[in-house]
Amino acid sequence: MSLPLTITGFSTALFSTWYFIEELGIVFDAGDGLSAGLLQKSRKVKHAFISHADRDHITGLLQFHQLNAQEGFPKIYYPIHSGSFQALRSFSEKFDPQAGTTEWIGLNHADEIQLKPNLMVQAFRNAHIPVAETFIKSLGFKVYTTRTKLKSDYTHLNQNELLHLIKERGRDALHELIKTNVIAYSGDTPQEPDDLEKWSDVKLLIHEATFFKRDAALIQHAHINKHSLLEDVIEMASQLKNLEQLVLGHFSKRYEHEEIDLQIKTCCKHFGIKIPVYRLLPGQVHRKLLSEDPIYN
Ligand SMILES: [Zn+2]
Repeated sequence: MSLPLTITGFSTALFSTWYFIEELGIVFDAGDGLSAGLLQKSRKVKHAFISHADRDHITGLLQFHQLNAQEGFPKIYYPIHSGSFQALRSFSEKFDPQAGTTEWIGLNHADEIQLKPNLMVQAFRNAHIPVAETFIKSLGFKVYTTRTKLKSDYTHLNQNELLHLIKERGRDALHELIKTNVIAYSGDTPQEPDDLEKWSDVKLLIHEATFFKRDAALIQHAHINKHSLLEDVIEMASQLKNLEQLVLGHFSKRYEHEEIDLQIKTCCKHFGIKIPVYRLLPGQVHRKLLSEDPIYN
C-alpha cells in the first residue's frame, strides 16, 4: 500500500464525522451526510468502522445501509457494548426491508478484522466515554498491511538448505510476520498516558483535536465525554518517530477557520513538527484531502 491514500472526509464536532479511505474500501465513522458526500462512491465502501454511538458519528448509517446493502455487505463494525447499534440495526432492517442484509459486528478491544489476505484492521478501546474498563463503548482503529519475511537466523542459507528446512519445520517456523501500520484513526478520545506507545508505529494518523487549550476548563464542565486539545495532539505528534503525515479533524464549530489554521501553524512551529499536517475545517467536505496543500509542512 503506497501513500498518499485518497481520503474524502467531513469532520465537525457535534455535527458529523466520516472519513472514506478509497484504496481500502473503508469508512471510519458514518455521520450525517456520508452518502450525500460520496454519492456513487459510497458503493465502494465494504467495511464501516464506527468509533462510538454519539449521534454525530452514526446518523449516516441509515441511508448508507439503504443504498448499499447486499448480502453480507457492507459490514458495520461497532464497539461491542454499545446498545445503540442493536436499535439502529433492527430499525433499519424494518424501515428498509427491501435492502439487502448489512452485517453488524461488535468489536472488543484488540479484535482484528482481516479485510484482505494482507490487510488487517485492529480496534482498540479509548477513554472517550467514561465507563468501567471492561466496557467497550468507544474505539479507535489501526490499519495494517502484512507481509512475511525470512527470519534473520536463516538469511545466510542457500536455496537448497532453505527448502530442506522448510520441509522439515514448515514455512511458518522460518518466517516472521511484518506489520506496517499504514493509517490509524483516533476516534473521539481524550489524550491518554500510553499515546506515544499506541501510535508509535503509525505512518498516517487521523486524530481528533476538538478544542484549543485555552478552553480546557470549559470542556471539563460542559462535556461529559472527553476530547483532545489541539496543542496536546501536536506536541504528541512531534514525538512520533515513524509518523509521516498528520490529519487533524473534529474541530469545534466555536472556532473560525482562520483561527484554526493559525493555531495549527503556531503550534507546529513551536513543537518543531517536520511532517505535512492536514486539517478538516468545520462545515467542509474535503475531497482528496492529502492532495490539498498541507496547512503546515
Ligand atoms: Zn464526535
